[in-house]
Amino acid sequence: MNTTTFSELGLAEPLLRALTAENYQTPTPIQAHAIPALLAGKDLLGVAQTGTGKTAAFALPILQHLSANRSAPVPKCPRALILAPTRELALQIGEAFRAYGKFLGFRHAVIMGGVGFQPQVQALQRGLDILVATPGRLLDLMQQNRVRLDRVTHLVLDEADRMLDMGFVRDVRKIVATLPKRRQSMFFSATMPPEVSKLANEMLSSPVRVEVTPQVITVDKIRQHVHFVNAADKRGLLVKLLGDPALARVLVFTRTKHGANKVADVLERAQVGVEAIHGNKSQNARQRALERVLVFTRTKHGANKVADVLERAQVGVEAIHGNKSQNARQRALERFRSGECRVLVATDIAARGIDVDGITHVVNFEIPNVPETYVHRIGRTARAGADGVAISLCDGSERAYLRDIERLTRRPIAVAAGRYVDAAARPAPASNHAHAPRQAQAANNAQAQRPAQAKNGSGATPAPRPPSRNGADKHSHRHFARGLNRGFATAR
Ligand code: AMP
Repeated sequence: MNTTTFSELGLAEPLLRALTAENYQTPTPIQAHAIPALLAGKDLLGVAQTGTGKTAAFALPILQHLSANRSAPVPKCPRALILAPTRELALQIGEAFRAYGKFLGFRHAVIMGGVGFQPQVQALQRGLDILVATPGRLLDLMQQNRVRLDRVTHLVLDEADRMLDMGFVRDVRKIVATLPKRRQSMFFSATMPPEVSKLANEMLSSPVRVEVTPQVITVDKIRQHVHFVNAADKRGLLVKLLGDPALARVLVFTRTKHGANKVADVLERAQVGVEAIHGNKSQNARQRALERVLVFTRTKHGANKVADVLERAQVGVEAIHGNKSQNARQRALERFRSGECRVLVATDIAARGIDVDGITHVVNFEIPNVPETYVHRIGRTARAGADGVAISLCDGSERAYLRDIERLTRRPIAVAAGRYVDAAARPAPASNHAHAPRQAQAANNAQAQRPAQAKNGSGATPAPRPPSRNGADKHSHRHFARGLNRGFATAR
């Protein structure tokens, strides 16, 4: 990559000024590749995840085009439409347009479910240039004739794979069908399973493809370890772990609502442990290394439970998930961001796209069944050059998930030593659980043949392979693994 500055990419002065105000000095790789192509009017297929700078990669050229072709905002009729799967992402994109466009004077609105219709209807009615929307609410407003898309010249579909996971693809197709055929389209996805590729083909015309490999370096900076623990002992272990003053800011992930609920109950009952966490808050200043903890649960219900227990015990905790109102989610994020609460319990979908600095620890209360989810989760710590810690609680039924993760990242995850380790829950020593990096590729190649996994040196019966969520996941896993492996190859 030879390009070194934003001005060399052809961006106009008001945008350069805004980037200086944001303290962006050099374009990220996706920005360096995508911005010139987009300024030239090409369609774009961006294979990139959050954290790569993809938002500026599409927002800056859109702002520049709108500015070169100014017209007064028309009620209900945006000229640029950005579709995002989650409310948090939509809000972040809206913020990005505000920041990058601050010297251009465009109007933008963010419309999404979970909040009242009226302010959104009013924003549309006042007239706007840029609309950021989640698909469901946009369709509702289209059906009520509150918004019209026949003036749209620029379309962005962000996190298309997540749209697929969340069941939004039909809505997206319906929306796109109402857009003018002559437009510039940008399509971003972290992974490209067949259904997502199909959607991209339908939406794009001779696109430029820009692919950014996941940031393996960030993951390398994270100290990862796993506690082998019986499922029934996980909550007790979490309480003990949170009692450690070092865990000053913790994010706990569980896989299911039910799981998160149970975790929360236990934490509540274990008031000593929970209060100890709170008591330790006063030490946060001295324990900066562990002051912001993100706990992942797999379900909304689970997230609620964990958070409720901690809250009743007066631990600074918040939960975010899809069932919470938008205001509650924003409030939770703000409290976590500002350090008012130390622990955030989140489900994967709600956590997607959240950009909070200074997370010291990520706790996987449940091991995710899709390996790239693990990478997304732990990538929440060790941002901006800091290091971080990822703690996973793995019961017997989750060992196959753990093996998948180790194959994907090509790194064995260290087994936590010490008092919390439950010897009975540990895999047999000769199991193929931890792979030397060089073996990993072979293991990866063999992965399609799941029954082969049943052979382990100890002769013990391995944990059954838990089912993938769907076929697309299996594919995206393979795709992601290829991308990541490429990243490792270049990192060496
Ligand atoms: P994104 O992948 O678009 O969600 O961006 C991830 C984070 O990187 C956001 O906090 C952006 O503000 C930040 N960012 C994007 N581009 C740059 C850049 N060129 N220099 C510094 N920070 C950036």
